[in-house]
Amino acid sequence: MGTIADNLAAVRARIAAAARRAGRDPDAVRLVAVSKRVPTERLRQAIAAGQRLFGENYLQEAQEKIAEFDPAGELGWHFIGHLQSNKAKAAAENFTMVETVDRLKLATLLDRHAAMAGRVLAVLVQVNVGGERQKSGVAPEQAAELLRAMAGLPALRVMGLMTMPPWSAEAEASRPHFRRLRFLAEELTAQGLLGRHGKVELSMGMSGDFEVAVEEGATLVRVGTAIFGPRL
Ligand SMILES: *Cc1c(COP(=O)(O)O)cnc(C)c1O
Repeated sequence: MGTIADNLAAVRARIAAAARRAGRDPDAVRLVAVSKRVPTERLRQAIAAGQRLFGENYLQEAQEKIAEFDPAGELGWHFIGHLQSNKAKAAAENFTMVETVDRLKLATLLDRHAAMAGRVLAVLVQVNVGGERQKSGVAPEQAAELLRAMAGLPALRVMGLMTMPPWSAEAEASRPHFRRLRFLAEELTAQGLLGRHGKVELSMGMSGDFEVAVEEGATLVRVGTAIFGPRL
């Protein structure tokens, strides 16, 4: 592994090359640096290297980092882990975006707590494209129903969809899942259930497959290991 600055530059170059291969504007893809269980010194280096958007999976760990590294609220923090209902208040108060909304009960709680905090919270609906039993996410066939119900929650701004395909050592194995998420987003947009707040976001792709995700239309890629090295 090089320095954090080198790794960030390499990941950004790979994102840009993948976007160009697909005839896309590289600036249409935002890099979420996944900093869960990363030593704080490496997080500090990423901020020094100009990275502004981070992804976190654990509420308490994230709250400590936000307090230490972003007291003025100048950075972006996306919650990307499984969110228990009893943590909805902390998530609604601390994050720029919650990417993992997969049930109406959670959406309703996030809406209530965002409203009480005087905020409008950007969210994504997590879709379980691979249909894996152990994974979070709404089934693709149920996404429309969830989005219809969420349209009545005024403090949430539904920006798009997120997915985590089945794990594979082969990046290409993720391609049909990423494509399925894009097609689903297009369908939901045609139905008027997405796209009310501008461009529809697709959060897909991690260290092993982010280039394939960019080729398939990702607007947010969530990359940890390729930037920070192995986690603690
Ligand atoms: C940890 C995590 C990532 C980053 O994974 P890497 O393989 O380290 O890039 C991306 N998305 C989610 C939801 C994660 O939990």
